[in-house]
Amino acid sequence: MIITDNHMHLDPQGLGIEAAKKFQRAGGTHLFIIYKYAEDYGINVKNEKDFERAYDIVIKMCKRVNDRTDLKAYCIIGIHPAEVVELYKKYGEKKTWDLCMKTFDIIAEKYVEKEIVGIGEIGRPHFPVSDEIMEFSQKVMNEGLKLSRELNCAVQLHLESFENREKFYELEKTVKRYGKKERVIKHFAPPEIKIFEEIEIMPSVIASENNIRKAIKEGNRFLMETDYIDDLKRPGAVMGPKTVPRTTLKLLRAGVLDEEDIFRIHKENIEKVYGIDLNEP
Ligand SMILES: [Zn+2]
Repeated sequence: MIITDNHMHLDPQGLGIEAAKKFQRAGGTHLFIIYKYAEDYGINVKNEKDFERAYDIVIKMCKRVNDRTDLKAYCIIGIHPAEVVELYKKYGEKKTWDLCMKTFDIIAEKYVEKEIVGIGEIGRPHFPVSDEIMEFSQKVMNEGLKLSRELNCAVQLHLESFENREKFYELEKTVKRYGKKERVIKHFAPPEIKIFEEIEIMPSVIASENNIRKAIKEGNRFLMETDYIDDLKRPGAVMGPKTVPRTTLKLLRAGVLDEEDIFRIHKENIEKVYGIDLNEP
């Protein structure tokens, strides 16, 4: 049975490959390893080459998981919205914009060279910022969406929480204008599967039992994730690496999910949105 975690951060300073092994022991088979912030890899960003060094650490981690376990790991790199905010405060608009654009070029190269399967996280900060910074973040996000459309590759969006329907429709509009709907994933999505189906964006839902129970009532067009942060200084701050397989298998036994749901959530939906084949080595 294929069980996929769509959003994990594995940190060489954290448990790293050991967290992946825990995921596997619990029944996991496929995982997406997402870049966090350069700072988390001990890198202080001054230019795009620094981003590249940080990306190479994540790509290497991904390779290590593939070489040393039976898991299949995929790599995703981007410019985290919180990182954009920090760069803006440090370097101002012009330099940050140039830096982000040059960094997107690096991301594009790595996609073409098949070192990564998508872009992420990019988007808007989830914490309050000035209008000026919010506007700037939106512009960077739009460029990221354009890049995903150009490359025809998936993109994972990190956004503020969606408390009303307007937010969904506004996102739909943005994606329609700059991106390619069938390649867009909303990371950390609420379990509102119907409205995501309506706007044709793929939700990646945090794999708590409660969330998945709610989600499945509205259908099985969603992905599952932990957003595991692999930070030894914040143990238990977020979900552990075993959560996706644990929740999936528990809800299968409870009859809340059936095998067809699991096939859709962990395999078909993933293959469709990324344009990949999970059975390929
Ligand atoms: Zn994340």
